[in-house]
Amino acid sequence: MIAIVGGGLAGCLLACFLTRRGEEVVLYERRADPRAAGAERGRSINLALSERGLDALRRVDLVADVLAGALPMRGRMIHPVEGETGFQPYSADGTRAINSISRAALNDILLDAAGKSARIVFEHRLTRLDPESGEMRFDTPGGEVHATADVVLGADGAGSAVRGQLLRVGATTESLDFLDYGYKELTIPARAGEFALDPGALHIWPRGRSMMIALPNPDRSFTATLFWPTSGTAGFASLSSPAAVERYFAEHYPDVVPLIPDLVEDYQLNPVGLLGTVRCTSWQSGRAGLIGDAAHAIVPFYGQGANCAFEDVVVLDRCLTEAGGDWARALPLFEAGRRADTEAIARMALANFVEMRDKVASPVFRLGQRIEHSLERLLPGRYVSRYELVSFSTVPYAQVGRRVRRQHGAVAGAGAVAALAVAGVARKLRR
Ligand SMILES: Cc1cc2nc3c(=O)[nH]c(=O)nc-3n(C[C@H](O)[C@H](O)[C@H](O)COP(=O)(O)OP(=O)(O)OC[C@H]3O[C@@H](n4cnc5c(N)ncnc54)[C@H](O)[C@@H]3O)c2cc1C
Repeated sequence: MIAIVGGGLAGCLLACFLTRRGEEVVLYERRADPRAAGAERGRSINLALSERGLDALRRVDLVADVLAGALPMRGRMIHPVEGETGFQPYSADGTRAINSISRAALNDILLDAAGKSARIVFEHRLTRLDPESGEMRFDTPGGEVHATADVVLGADGAGSAVRGQLLRVGATTESLDFLDYGYKELTIPARAGEFALDPGALHIWPRGRSMMIALPNPDRSFTATLFWPTSGTAGFASLSSPAAVERYFAEHYPDVVPLIPDLVEDYQLNPVGLLGTVRCTSWQSGRAGLIGDAAHAIVPFYGQGANCAFEDVVVLDRCLTEAGGDWARALPLFEAGRRADTEAIARMALANFVEMRDKVASPVFRLGQRIEHSLERLLPGRYVSRYELVSFSTVPYAQVGRRVRRQHGAVAGAGAVAALAVAGVARKLRR
């Protein structure tokens, strides 16, 4: 029996892939069934689902169900403090889109799919694991429960208890790099039954050191997320009174104030979430392995955490095939093949925060983006932007940076050759 700890995005999809291989799977989830319980206040989280996630879902025939509840976003809509909004398409031809979907809705679809072939046990919080024997202990409403599995896969998110147990026995070490930034959600409700903003875009209010984004929901509302410093004058801690909240938004986000009738209440009641990067030296030991955020949580600024977790499932499935179903070989293969990719997306996600909160508003950035899109049209398939490689392809993350550098080198080289040719023709004409 294979035990998966964590019935979130990665755990449920993994259950679908493993039962398809004929494995017997039990999925242990700490929460009550969320399909009955509903979401926590201020923790709705919409995800931007893109090609890597879709590719994984396609393999188990779930992509149509998922996209039925998603809204395509073909570019960024930039909201300056003053003046007109500006739309920046994500792809050269303007047709490619990332998809806004609520994490809860996605989880529900995956729980339904996993429940068809795996046993799902809710309200079981893993508290103890022996990675060598596969013995597990869970806290449940009815008291402590013991179970044993041939393989235990930790898909239990950034604060993983399975990772904690690998740490306890000295099988791994971890580093948790928290940003000095947190996030808080606000809701932009529908206005007279219609979207208050363009639903075909991911909206960004770049404000230098901080920003707000908003993604559309099928009920015609938007979920807005503030990414602000946790302390300091422009941070969450500085706005302690309703008047201070109103003043700050009127000054920095003036176009949003009329769109959020419950601004002060939302701001004061909704929690501030933490943002950080998790790294650990080993993802597996004995019968236990880690996958998704449990192995490598990243900051959300490239919209890739869930996409990456889904791609992990595809890679682990491929490793199992290569290892002839032998888990003792498949888990090390998975770690060896996947680590460089997850490290690459962790770095790109951090770098994208600076791009989103600051650079997207600058004329230099917009010019650069227009040049990139022209090159993509001029050299189809040979020049592809970093954003497209990450969001609209399954090129391994670790190859993206190398490919972008090679393309830049080739373009610079072609530019130099063209300049020399022009100079040569000019010299001949002068003679
Ligand atoms: C603000 C924000 C915005 C984001 N935006 C995007 C985006 O646009 N695109 C994108 O791809 N990703 C995005 N992400 C990241 C994405 O949410 C995560 O990468 C993804 O949810 C990881 O999936 P997972 O299954 O590994 O972990 P999780 O989804 O965290 O699931 C872990 C599961 O394990 C359960 N669990 C935890 N501990 C135990 C235990 N001890 N015993 C049993 N069960 C346990 C939890 O209850 C949960 O169900 C965003 C994240 C945040 C915070």
